[in-house]
Amino acid sequence: MASRIIPVDPFDLVVFGGTGDLARRKIIPALFRRWCAGQMRDGTRIIGAARSERDSEEYRALIGDALAEFAGPAARDADAVTGFLAILDYVTIDATGTLGWSELRDLLNPQRVRAFYFSVGPELFGPLAERLHKHGMADGESRIVVEKPFGNDQSSAEALNRTLTTHFQEHQIYRIDHYLGKETVQNLMAIRFANMLFEPLWNSQYVDHIQITVAETVGVAGRGAYYDHAGAMRDMVQNHLMQLLCLIAMEPPAKFDPDAVRDEKLKVIRALDPVARDDIVRGQYLGDSANAGYREDVGNPDSTTESFAALRVQISNWRWAGTPIYLRTGKRLRARASEIAVVFKETPHSIFGAEAGRHRNILTIRLQPNEGIDLDMTIKEPGPGGMRLVDVPLDMTFAQALGPEAQDVPDAYERLIMDVVRGNQTLFMRCDEVEAAWAWIDPAIRLCEDEALPVLPYDPGSSGPEDALALMHRDGRRWREIKP
Ligand code: NAD
Repeated sequence: MASRIIPVDPFDLVVFGGTGDLARRKIIPALFRRWCAGQMRDGTRIIGAARSERDSEEYRALIGDALAEFAGPAARDADAVTGFLAILDYVTIDATGTLGWSELRDLLNPQRVRAFYFSVGPELFGPLAERLHKHGMADGESRIVVEKPFGNDQSSAEALNRTLTTHFQEHQIYRIDHYLGKETVQNLMAIRFANMLFEPLWNSQYVDHIQITVAETVGVAGRGAYYDHAGAMRDMVQNHLMQLLCLIAMEPPAKFDPDAVRDEKLKVIRALDPVARDDIVRGQYLGDSANAGYREDVGNPDSTTESFAALRVQISNWRWAGTPIYLRTGKRLRARASEIAVVFKETPHSIFGAEAGRHRNILTIRLQPNEGIDLDMTIKEPGPGGMRLVDVPLDMTFAQALGPEAQDVPDAYERLIMDVVRGNQTLFMRCDEVEAAWAWIDPAIRLCEDEALPVLPYDPGSSGPEDALALMHRDGRRWREIKP
């Protein structure tokens, strides 16, 4: 099946922080792959802008190295790399001063889409927006892309929104959450709203509970200073897990339109019950012979920040009252695995007798690795010997179902940056969504901090602290195994 590439009109994209880790590892390689796929027309330009002094030639050399390291097999095509590097420029700029701003403005074409990617620390978002405005680059077809963290509580997020909206209109602001750019996340909407099969069952009458897991094997070494101030609740739950929760739980929007979708997501956040103390488990990974523990990684022997969080969440609306949603995320866990599992209720009565056991359908949306969707069905075990039941997955691994093309699906950054250029905000967070997410999680974070909710040690390579298992056991349920 050939994937359709619809080229976008020539645009100018400025990457502030264009020499940084995120730009070199994700943003520029994503642009390179879209360029290789033929999605960018001649005339498109990408301009790195950062503090360090270098010229465009030196910048191209830096990006050439980054592509070799991070862009995958496409970077082995020397002609493609040379062609792509030729559309790059570099400007030395001071986000908080005057250096480089006139030069940047003179490089850009005001007649076309101009996107400014803020791949810098959040303390620079305001100064960048202000200078773009002051130098006449905030008008018309201009748009800005801001990375997480978007604030560290409700009031800082509101302040940031106020600053950005002083210089740009909401329709020009793209708050990126790369989880929303994943193929499966969008497929989640297709599965729910383009099939008749699931939507009638998508409520508390048929769904026993939902589990959302985002598990990582890496620790926080290298970003310990930031992480120790954030913790799993701010770094993962407030944004990625809540966004997934919204998509799985929202009402069908009237149309697939940015504001219609975001209105429905916002309603979910506003319907969340406050989290009770007993419904949160926090953990911190220990070290082992191969790796340091959390406290060593962040250089703070007394740290009480969580590298793991599990929560039991309840949505108080007609659709979901009585169906708990369990969220779990952590570092240094057993496997790198992100999934959403919708666990349906047992049939009300088994005609096959007690010995056949009770079975449940589980719809699993795997975000990584092996993006795809499974539906666990109960069937008769093949062969003679009576009616024995067995659970088998209907597996829709995209790579298998759709052939080699599916292995080539754009990664989240590729898709999202192209959405910015096209002006489609559906997969980006609106200001009221971000603020509502903080408004919900702030009291939970305060509970953790003020009431000294213990942070429990867990072994690296485990599924987190024992208490996280108990969080579900006490409801007569259990977590799915974390496996790749
Ligand atoms: P980094 O420290 O590697 O790079 C920072 C960049 O900002 C550099 O290019 C630097 O020159 C530039 N910069 C700093 N001060 C400047 C100034 N005054 N004027 C102009 N440029 C200046 O950081 P990073 O890891 O690339 O992260 C950038 C942002 O993205 C951070 O807010 C981070 O939290 C966020 N983020 C990073 C990742 C990641 O995987 N690295 C993932 C998600 C979000």
